[in-house]
Amino acid sequence: MGIIIEPQHSIASNAFPTARPRRLRRTGAIRELVREHRVSPSELIAPLFVCEGTGIQRPIGSMPGQFNRSVDRLVTEVAALGKLGVHAIMLFGIPDRKDDCGSENWNPEGIIPRAIRAIKDEHPETIVISDMCFCEYTDHGHCGIINTPQNAHFNATLPQSYLLNDPTLELLARSSIVHAEAGADMIAPSAMLDGQVGAIRTALDQNGFDHVPVMAYTTKYASGFYGPFREAAQSTPAFGDRKQYQMDPANRREAMREAELDVAEGADIIMVKPAMPYLDIVSDLRTSFDLPIAAYQVSGEYAMLHAAAANGWIDLQRCAMESLIGIKRAGADLILTYFAKDVAGWSNA
Ligand SMILES: [Zn+2]
Repeated sequence: MGIIIEPQHSIASNAFPTARPRRLRRTGAIRELVREHRVSPSELIAPLFVCEGTGIQRPIGSMPGQFNRSVDRLVTEVAALGKLGVHAIMLFGIPDRKDDCGSENWNPEGIIPRAIRAIKDEHPETIVISDMCFCEYTDHGHCGIINTPQNAHFNATLPQSYLLNDPTLELLARSSIVHAEAGADMIAPSAMLDGQVGAIRTALDQNGFDHVPVMAYTTKYASGFYGPFREAAQSTPAFGDRKQYQMDPANRREAMREAELDVAEGADIIMVKPAMPYLDIVSDLRTSFDLPIAAYQVSGEYAMLHAAAANGWIDLQRCAMESLIGIKRAGADLILTYFAKDVAGWSNA
């Protein structure tokens, strides 16, 4: 015997059928109408690596579609990005000359100042953001001055191999002025040293660059996901690791403290790096601060997606877009991503 449902007792009398979220998922147009977040090329920043020489466009093995480029090729790439709607780039320099304090970083004729001038000459509208650190410039690959007896700042009470904080701040400030003089639109300190935002802000203000914003790498975690970047930027530490200055991946409350300090020191934009394993941090900062929040989808995140796609295990475009929308949904306003050009191409298709 079948069960008879009398009309007056149908499910229509319950709360359930009046709320049917699927109504707004029925067609593509409806889904688009009610879509909460979008990724647009105008809010992406393309990280680019620049090396010495001319006519060089050297593929980075672990980052398909990414290259080390000489300045002339870099300018061509910036033009291509601009045409697609990506107007912001982040520069990483690969100098030929390295020393123990990274002096090439404040050389006005160094690789980054020359790259900035070349880009601004041809494409003055492009937003050129200068990554501000020393790991690409030091012969030991650390992000500043290391405590050694040979160094003028040697501190016998600190262990050798310790990264000296305050002497490095002076060099970060000096280099920031040189990059700003070359035409950098924004300085992005990434060393995770105490006081780096304040030191750079003060130096910029005292030298006529009070209009140049600071985008702080506020919570940069000591992450295994930076692996491919170190190949790209030739910045693997010669000894030890960066855990004495970058954040412990296990820490969430500490991220808030770092952000409070950077904001107090004058940061204009605060950044979380990497992105995917740290979306809770993006969300926390979004809730607590009204400044623009940036998230850096790092080389390892990019490489993983490419590797899986190359094996036929995932659809690259779909998963790349999903990874980026996840970062937006967590609360990021800007995303630094090696997919910037791809996204622009996909959205123009
Ligand atoms: Zn560094």
